[in-house]
Amino acid sequence: MTTIRDITNRIETFAPNHLAEDWDPIGLSFGSYDKKIKKILVALDFDKNTLKEAQDKKVDFIFTHHPAIFKSLPTLNEHDSRRKEYIDLIRSDIALYSAHTNVDSTVGGMNDWLAGAIGLEQPSEVLATSYQSELKLLVLYTPLDDAKSIRETLHQAGAGQVGDYRNVSYTSNGIGHFTPENDADPTIGEQNRAEEVEEERVEVLFPSYLQSKIMEVIYKNHPYEEPVFHIFDIGKTDMEFGIGRVGNLKEPKTLDEMISKVKDVFNLSHVRTANTSVDQAIQRVAIVGGSGESYYKQALNKQADLYITGDISYHGAQDMIRDGLPFIDAGHFIENIFTEKMTALLNEWNEEEGWDIEIISATSQEDVFKFN
Ligand SMILES: [Zn+2]
Repeated sequence: MTTIRDITNRIETFAPNHLAEDWDPIGLSFGSYDKKIKKILVALDFDKNTLKEAQDKKVDFIFTHHPAIFKSLPTLNEHDSRRKEYIDLIRSDIALYSAHTNVDSTVGGMNDWLAGAIGLEQPSEVLATSYQSELKLLVLYTPLDDAKSIRETLHQAGAGQVGDYRNVSYTSNGIGHFTPENDADPTIGEQNRAEEVEEERVEVLFPSYLQSKIMEVIYKNHPYEEPVFHIFDIGKTDMEFGIGRVGNLKEPKTLDEMISKVKDVFNLSHVRTANTSVDQAIQRVAIVGGSGESYYKQALNKQADLYITGDISYHGAQDMIRDGLPFIDAGHFIENIFTEKMTALLNEWNEEEGWDIEIISATSQEDVFKFN
């Protein structure tokens, strides 16, 4: 059966934890990584609607974008509406896991989904770079019989992703030579006798942040007492990770057209805008899901004609107006794109990994704000 660890390993290969901001309490908030699960509910937030939906639909694992516990808990009693939700979740034996700013920043994650939705040419540029990946090359020697399974475990750990290709490796066969000494406990051969084994040389690329995970996988899965491998620095890649995206529209649009586009793709009745004239031409657009006000200077630096984000405050709007940056505040709920996109990804991984899990999108959530 599939455990939560199986699922979260795959999620964290897509959106590695080190991409999350320091303040962000991502990961497993409730339950155990060892829990065996059958049904996942994907949602933007955890609230009483999500909880009810999970209970009604007999879900055993909720996967949200926003972490469920943001503030520390001095007590856990039922006389606080938020803490009551936590208690009810635990009583229902439902686990909860979140992937937040790591999904915002990763390639092909939240901000790429949003940029794609409003028609920015792909791939678009990162607005605020928080991490630049370095590339490493692993060269590993393994007995022929174990070669395939070792390569598979390396790929599961995230090694061998090259552009749009996964499970990329190069192999060649040869002979490994060694003589186990007195204290050795060899898998193949005997102490103080020269041994020769047919081995495969496996070469596979991986991003530097995976190094400790890759080494863990080698020591856990390689049959030898002392696996032989080398890790080489290949240098920086042009792969940037970070918050927000900036890119160009295929055709310039007027602000009016952009407002209609944003309302249409995110299904909004209203947006808030300022600093704009309706027939101003817009070609270069910056977008940040969630509360992106603090990144508006980067949008200016990257020559954006328009900045799209959510939760813009009165004074934040004044700053943007002063600096001449037109904006559309589309609200925080445009991040609900998470639900549809993550459900689709989990369904793909379900097939690839043979998990036999049912994955459903939450339907109980709506924008907290209403326009009258
Ligand atoms: Zn958010």
